[in-house]
Amino acid sequence: MKMSTSICKDLKTIPPFYDEAIKMKTCSKCCVLETQDSIQFDAKGVCNVCKQVEVKKNTVDWVGRRKMLDEFIAHYRGKYQYDCIIPFSGGKDSTYTVWYLVEVCKLKPLVVSFNHGFFRPQHLENRNRTLNKLGVDFLTFLPSWKIRRELMLESFRRKGDFCWHCHSGCYVYPVQLAVKFHVPLIFWGQPDAEYGSYGYTYEEIQEVDERQFNRFINLGITAEDMVGMLPEWITMSDLAPFQYPDRDTLRALKVRSVHLGSFIPWDPRAMAQTIHKELGWKFDKVEGIPEEYGWEKVECMFTGIRDYLKYIKRGFGRTRHLVSIDIREGRKNREEALSLIEKYDGKRPASLDLFLKLLDITEEEFVSIAISHCVAPYKHDTSKTVKGEPLWDHDQWLDLLGMRE
Ligand SMILES: [Zn+2]
Repeated sequence: MKMSTSICKDLKTIPPFYDEAIKMKTCSKCCVLETQDSIQFDAKGVCNVCKQVEVKKNTVDWVGRRKMLDEFIAHYRGKYQYDCIIPFSGGKDSTYTVWYLVEVCKLKPLVVSFNHGFFRPQHLENRNRTLNKLGVDFLTFLPSWKIRRELMLESFRRKGDFCWHCHSGCYVYPVQLAVKFHVPLIFWGQPDAEYGSYGYTYEEIQEVDERQFNRFINLGITAEDMVGMLPEWITMSDLAPFQYPDRDTLRALKVRSVHLGSFIPWDPRAMAQTIHKELGWKFDKVEGIPEEYGWEKVECMFTGIRDYLKYIKRGFGRTRHLVSIDIREGRKNREEALSLIEKYDGKRPASLDLFLKLLDITEEEFVSIAISHCVAPYKHDTSKTVKGEPLWDHDQWLDLLGMRE
């Protein structure tokens, strides 16, 4: 498209920084869009995530960080019933974290998993294989479906995100267990500087705390807020699994909550290969992303719905996120990335039918709630909706959900 001279003077409208087809600014390097949370562009149109990754590659002394890890865990090793607690979804990041801390660092962890209720069949196999091969103790918790359903509906209507129970539960459960078992060290996997820039950078060792939980994890809704929004039959004791332990208790126990990825460089593609080789962790297909990313978010039945929602709200799905990582790592060029985005992002997932049945809402309601949370300048056009294909295990989900009639 030919642009007028006056428009070309404005950097904000010059390609590749401005994508004329979708009418949005995009990082001139990695293709992320201006509708991504907390994204900022410099004068050359390069985003803050690209810059963080440069810091990771060029500035951080990873040899020094690895030594720091040894010194850090020496304070905890052998002093408690478990050396640390590892929050574990069974996806690639947490599986790699458990593998690394057990096999490389020789720690004895308590592995803990908040169950959001939608784990896929191969995920469950991967999880059990990992736990057996590493020989670790494991605890899991599945909250009531009646409560989860109300939470999903409420957070979807209010925030356009149905995963409040999962965001909150996954963060709260390990901290509650740290208190219960008197184990003051929690090890997460990937640090936030990897994919976003919520004020965290690779120059610091990020700690997960209540401040972070309330600002970035729980959609700005605490369990105490949530109980007031739900039907009266739900009480605070029903929401206890989503309530962050109080500050005094955590301070008394001196809880430290850190990311393994602050101490070793985080490379999802390489990590997926490692756990595949070492633990027999199997790749899977996910709705709306190319098969080559078979390690990404394979654990949840409704990843495709989350990504579709993101597309309706912000104009991009998981493929754009994945190819942007590959561009930063020098594995894909912009043209390859854009053609994959075109092919995969934004399709209506086949799993939506099951999701609507589960929550008892119509597709019109679903789309109109999603559109009410649109992030400017993106405007969703429902007339361009293309349907996606069902996944290979889709039919088994009915049994896992107890929905087979
Ligand atoms: Zn970028």
